[in-house]
Amino acid sequence: MSNIPSEPEFQQAYNELVSTLENSTLFQKNPEYKTALSVVSIPERIIQFRVVWENDNGELQVNRGYRVQFNSALGPYKGGLRFHPTVNLSILKFLGFEQIFKNALTGINIGGGKGGADFDPKGKSDNEIRRFCVSFMRELSKHIGADTDIPAGDIGVSGREIGWLFGAYKAQTKLWEGVLTGKGTTWGGSLIRPEATGYGLVYYVNHMINYASGGKESFKDKRVAVSGSGNVAQYAALKVIELGGTVVSLSDSKGALIAKECQSITADEIAQIAQIKVERKYLADIVSSNDAFAQKYEYIAGARPWTHVTADVALPSATQNEVSGDEAKHLIGAGCKFIAEGSNMGCTQEAIDVFEACRCEKKGDAIWYAPGKAANAGGVAVSGLEMAQNSARLSWTTEEVDDKLKSIMENCFKNGLETAKEYAEPGEGVFPSLVAGSNIAGFKKVVAAM
Ligand code: GLU
Repeated sequence: MSNIPSEPEFQQAYNELVSTLENSTLFQKNPEYKTALSVVSIPERIIQFRVVWENDNGELQVNRGYRVQFNSALGPYKGGLRFHPTVNLSILKFLGFEQIFKNALTGINIGGGKGGADFDPKGKSDNEIRRFCVSFMRELSKHIGADTDIPAGDIGVSGREIGWLFGAYKAQTKLWEGVLTGKGTTWGGSLIRPEATGYGLVYYVNHMINYASGGKESFKDKRVAVSGSGNVAQYAALKVIELGGTVVSLSDSKGALIAKECQSITADEIAQIAQIKVERKYLADIVSSNDAFAQKYEYIAGARPWTHVTADVALPSATQNEVSGDEAKHLIGAGCKFIAEGSNMGCTQEAIDVFEACRCEKKGDAIWYAPGKAANAGGVAVSGLEMAQNSARLSWTTEEVDDKLKSIMENCFKNGLETAKEYAEPGEGVFPSLVAGSNIAGFKKVVAAM
């Protein structure tokens, strides 16, 4: 019996991992791993602090700041910072927990952590966000370092915020070191880091499609539903377009943008959407102010894309629990065969159960589902490459970073697949579970290091 307050998101992430471990042969083959599970589920350290800052009217504001230093067996804590009003310990523990295994799957020596604040950047001025970042770092700087804990971005924290945080760290500690990733390329950032999560997601799914079709198919002519319109969604959509696919949707917290008939979102339109996001506006604003958008798209207020699209591939790339069990059934009913999470825990457990129940090859319509901790590992992987470049005081070219990203995503896919065959024993005519395989592969690596 635990007397800690309820942590629904963390419990969901924990149960998802444990259910796949328990349904595999891992604990029979390695009984000591069961003990390791109870150790790995408790963060090594949680730092919780007050952030006081001043708004543009000179009034004091206060928020809660956090850093969950979950596991350092494989290397320094690594993981993003989320600034969003929903942030609490349950959410940061779920994200930090997933980050441990995701980071292990990249093959780079980094541990897992996550942090953030219940600060809402929406509706704030640039100056207010900058002042918040400086105050946040005033406390966080005491607990991080290039060889101990290296935060990066997540929802609400992009390159601009990383810049303000990095400047504050440098001023407060007098150190120029690679303490944050996602920096600008002129001051220590890596090429391809902004693109990495979205690109990596598409590279991963390309392997799924290729494997499932016996090498015959790729993204070419595939209809792809994407949710979200932030960094992950934008670059995933751009890479899909580059590979010859059709992007049929994007969304934000207020509604979904669905391309009419056989139209595809274009790279130019994604650039326009990226611009309104910088201005912290919504998709509704672009539809109401731009006739071309209004004609080409249906904007559905309050909706997510899943029940409004016909797609071969679905890439949830907005936030956690953004695909319900019913939406999962609808996607499959409309012909979707590949689902991969650009967001962390994008699918509810009910949705995962729907997808995982459809791995039977004989039906001829097997569904392939990839969990975020494998499919969206490209972002943190290039963060790891940024750390390597900072340590070496070097900058690699776009091609060098992109090639490394491609090979990391290929390894993530193959590692999950082979581990599933070994431990999750799918049985005759059933495809291996990428969820089980990725969970077991990540868990084994961390536990061995512990
Ligand atoms: N927030 C990203 C993730 O969920 C990236 C973390 C990082 O680069 O450290 O993986």
